[in-house]
Amino acid sequence: MPSGVGRGKDQHRHDHRPAADAEQSTEEPGDQADDDQLHPRILGAVEDGLGLLAALSGDPTRAAIMLDVDGTLAPIVTRPELAEVPEAARVELRRLVSRYTLVACISGRTGDEAYRLVGVDGIAYVGVHGLELAPEADAWRPSLHAFAEVDWPWLEDKGLTVAFHWREAEDDAVARSELEAVAAQARASGLEARWGRKVLELRPPVDADKGTAVRALLAERGLRRALYAGDDTTDLDAFRGLDGCEVAVRVAVASAESPSGLREAADLVVASPAGLLAVLRVL
Ligand SMILES: [Mg+2]
Repeated sequence: MPSGVGRGKDQHRHDHRPAADAEQSTEEPGDQADDDQLHPRILGAVEDGLGLLAALSGDPTRAAIMLDVDGTLAPIVTRPELAEVPEAARVELRRLVSRYTLVACISGRTGDEAYRLVGVDGIAYVGVHGLELAPEADAWRPSLHAFAEVDWPWLEDKGLTVAFHWREAEDDAVARSELEAVAAQARASGLEARWGRKVLELRPPVDADKGTAVRALLAERGLRRALYAGDDTTDLDAFRGLDGCEVAVRVAVASAESPSGLREAADLVVASPAGLLAVLRVL
């Protein structure tokens, strides 16, 4: 762990804003409107991490900027199809594309969907948690298709994964319990079942994740300096994908719903996509 970097919840709990405030969800509707107003705590973390970020920005031809999309660039919303990347973030992404050897978005969405949502050319879009880079995943499409037929109001079929959302469910516990049964059936048929932020995701038992995607993208270009930012369980894989890099900056976009270990695994913690934007601006 690099020193002098604002990281982990313990450090932030000692900052000048109360802990309850730090738990503010990225779901707040006003989140996007705050893009240009830096939370003092976020600004503090950015200043603490400037030395680390400077190692990337000092020679962008040797560095990669890799980002999750939902909850990281786009504030979390109740329905994934309503997600939007703020124009201010697009402006920054275009600037980063012009400076860095690689800018990538590694999303749980398909690469095509991620491109439509982010809408910036010159970015490498890797979809379905890196599965789109794993040819052996295709053999599992029929098994996954069977689960895509399950009667569920918020089902998302991405071909290589099937996701069951329950953010809008009336009874959280009932929904979770019903999906536990689906998860058990999926596991019995050889698929993997993973839990995220109010979502159960079924996927092939293939060794491909955001971490393998990160390593593949860096290896293809011979890069050993990179930043990765994310907000969810699968982003922990991407954080690990930076292990062994000459310069690695793992940014947690934290919220009340953050999976355990996200803050602790990060080199830098921000409280929202607006906080991440503050980081991107110094790159
Ligand atoms: Mg995310």
